[in-house]
Amino acid sequence: MDFSLSTEERQIRDTVRSFVEKEIMPLEPEVLRNERAGRPAIDPDVVRDLRAKARKSGFWGINTPEEYGGAALGPIMSAIIAMEIGRTFVPFSFGGSADNILYAGTDEQKQRYLIPTIEGERRSCFAITEPGAGSDARNIRTRATRDGGEWVINGEKTFITGGSEADFVMVFAVAEPYGATCFLVDRDMGWKSEPIPTMGEWGPAALVFQDVRVPEENILGELGKGFDLAMQWIGQGRYMIPARAIGSAERMLGMAIDYAKIRKSMGQTISEYQAIQWMIADSQVEIEAAKWLTLYAAWRVSEGMDARHASSIAKLNGAVMANQVVDRVLQIHGGMGYTKELPIERWYRELRLLRIFEGTDEIQRRTIARNLIKGHARLGLIGE
Ligand SMILES: Cc1cc2nc3c(=O)[nH]c(=O)nc-3n(C[C@H](O)[C@H](O)[C@H](O)COP(=O)(O)OP(=O)(O)OC[C@H]3O[C@@H](n4cnc5c(N)ncnc54)[C@H](O)[C@@H]3O)c2cc1C
Repeated sequence: MDFSLSTEERQIRDTVRSFVEKEIMPLEPEVLRNERAGRPAIDPDVVRDLRAKARKSGFWGINTPEEYGGAALGPIMSAIIAMEIGRTFVPFSFGGSADNILYAGTDEQKQRYLIPTIEGERRSCFAITEPGAGSDARNIRTRATRDGGEWVINGEKTFITGGSEADFVMVFAVAEPYGATCFLVDRDMGWKSEPIPTMGEWGPAALVFQDVRVPEENILGELGKGFDLAMQWIGQGRYMIPARAIGSAERMLGMAIDYAKIRKSMGQTISEYQAIQWMIADSQVEIEAAKWLTLYAAWRVSEGMDARHASSIAKLNGAVMANQVVDRVLQIHGGMGYTKELPIERWYRELRLLRIFEGTDEIQRRTIARNLIKGHARLGLIGE
């Protein structure tokens, strides 16, 4: 068993770390100021420039196949890069990526949707959740009915990330009589979006489809096979959620250690108190555990193995870990932790989402337990 990285992998990790420290972290005060003033966290032009700069160093299309100009660094490096980027709360990601399910498109769909998304010319959003169907995604009510060579979509989606900015949506609707189907629908085909304010700094949107007419050629994949595509979309990113959270938790723990070493109470620094030391120790133990569960899930994906069970474990553990760590870090900072002087309260609100989206804690537990009870996953076999 070899836990080391190759020289090249180490170089990539170090280059990303220094890019994040030199180019992204200096934007943090501005992000906090913007958000407090109700402005977008970061100017889109700044993101574009940063992405262009990163592209020159080869950081573009981290997970995108080489035939589409990407770096195709694979799941393990993608997870490690996400850990590095997660060290800052600036909402930044490298460019050159597109939703995995767009690769299932026809050549024409790839030209119209996949390639412009990779190039950053178009923005997508993924819409399955509805007011009456979240965890119970098989219960969606949005309908598509055939009318000549077109489908007419009616229904409502909710909590759609990027729904206010996207210019096309991968929307899941029940196409009678075939079943759930994914449609690529341009905004100018007539769907409307309404932002939903949330406790995090960025908000998703509600989407309304009222007699939206979509040509037959805009079906992504096969009629009636939409649910498989939806699970593929959700499944691919599952280990990336804890990966990013690990970076955030580690950075915050560093802040807590620094603060504990200088903050004095009752004649000594709080780092001298066991109550504080235990919070620090427990946090590192949990971060390390999350790191290895996440990398194990990523390794399974890279080996072409079934990674669903491992990804559920990593997502559940990472989401809970991040919320426990941010809570302890806030506690160690006392009243200062609760202020907007520091970014901890922002992380506290942001990380809460991790226990809800892309499968709640309860749904991950349900999946893990069902896999074990039904024998889809076995206990105690390392390496299989
Ligand atoms: C900020 C944000 C961004 C999002 N982005 C997107 C997006 O881009 N696209 C998209 O399609 N969706 C998105 N979602 C939706 C998200 O995936 C759902 O909110 C999530 O799946 C939970 O669904 P729900 O909110 O309807 O809760 P519900 O499913 O109603 O769950 C309510 C509670 O009941 C529990 N519960 C439900 N069923 C069971 C069960 N069988 N066993 C035990 N407990 C259960 C849940 O765990 C939860 O605690 C986003 C949500 C948020 C908040």
